[in-house]
Amino acid sequence: MKPVGPIPPGYAAQDVLTVAGRTAAEWAEEGTPLYLYDFAVVAARVAGLRTHLPDAVSLHYAVKANPYEPLVRALAPLVDGLDVASAGELALASRHKPAAAISFAGPGKRDFELEAAIQAGATLNLESEGEAERALAAGQRLGVTPRLAVRVNPDFELRGSGMRMGGRASPFGVDAARVPALVKRLTAEGADWRGFHIFAGSQSLDTAAIIETQAATVALARRLRDEAGAMPPLVNIGGGLGIPYFAGDMAVDVAAVGEALGGVIETFPETRFAIELGRYLVGEAGIYLTRVIDRKESQSETFLVVDGGLHQHLAATGNFGMVVRRNYPVAVASRMANAGEETVSVVGPLCTPLDRLADKVVLPSAGVGDVIAIFASGAYGASASPSAFLGHAPVREVLAGIPHT
Ligand SMILES: *Cc1c(COP(=O)(O)O)cnc(C)c1O
Repeated sequence: MKPVGPIPPGYAAQDVLTVAGRTAAEWAEEGTPLYLYDFAVVAARVAGLRTHLPDAVSLHYAVKANPYEPLVRALAPLVDGLDVASAGELALASRHKPAAAISFAGPGKRDFELEAAIQAGATLNLESEGEAERALAAGQRLGVTPRLAVRVNPDFELRGSGMRMGGRASPFGVDAARVPALVKRLTAEGADWRGFHIFAGSQSLDTAAIIETQAATVALARRLRDEAGAMPPLVNIGGGLGIPYFAGDMAVDVAAVGEALGGVIETFPETRFAIELGRYLVGEAGIYLTRVIDRKESQSETFLVVDGGLHQHLAATGNFGMVVRRNYPVAVASRMANAGEETVSVVGPLCTPLDRLADKVVLPSAGVGDVIAIFASGAYGASASPSAFLGHAPVREVLAGIPHT
């Protein structure tokens, strides 16, 4: 028997899993597998953050966490900005937010992407000096003053981070020591210099480490400001707030983070700050629902074979950047309160042993037709999975819980 992650608080007390007034079985009737996103959970997340974040800190959504357009459309009015990382995401974001509230990061932006962003008036977070030169040239070609920020490769990293993005050689951002010279070059060339983007890591549940990293990030921005001799209009301090996925994971203390951040930026009053969050806003709002197709025994182990799998939910199978495979929060949707009767593995339909959604977990007895729910599935799900692998139909996505006006 292996442990599972914690079911998010809003669902943990339910017996029959119910989202926006309908049971999981009802949502599943129109076809499985599906990703069900509960917008009420997203809205509550944003509202909670707003009560703790200082007023001088804007809230951005990192679109790559979940680019499902109905979700982006509903979320866009609740956040101050959208952060994108491709021309495709830029086009999506532009349908729901003015360009002035969109920033475009990521290495290897092609000339057509630089031009699309400059033409639209979005901010480019420059990843290298070479990209800076291409952006300046693109602005000249178009006769448009480019809005340019410099992404900094910080000389520290976010401790306890699932994905470290700083403190080492990196494809992301310009090494901190070379940033002042680049800022001087951009302003000398007449660009609209928008400030700094400093992203030190992702998926951290360590409140103290997040506080420490944000303080170091603001201190680095201050040092770069002084060395460049130019006041950044905006400093995007990244995000990094994680969500619980696995047994033992505990939520970040956002009140403590907000309070500490307030103290740190007090001393930097001329600049606006932004945090960019992906999974923290949408991760716990998503549930992957998949139906049991077969139940089989093999060498005294029980397998529930379901219609969903790695091709739609790579992360839950432990194959999206995890070092060790651990179980996501999982339940039988119609019998959540049941403490469990048997040890089973939940496997998908793909012909690879990697296609395992839950490994030796204790669940109430389930059979053909039952719906299995995998929680914490709202980020890096459908769009971060190899959907073409083995030729199954694409996954259904549904947004629930949008308030009717
Ligand atoms: C992916 C990414 C994010 C979002 O990360 P989460 O862990 O989903 O919050 C934020 N900023 C940048 C620059 C990213 O690349």
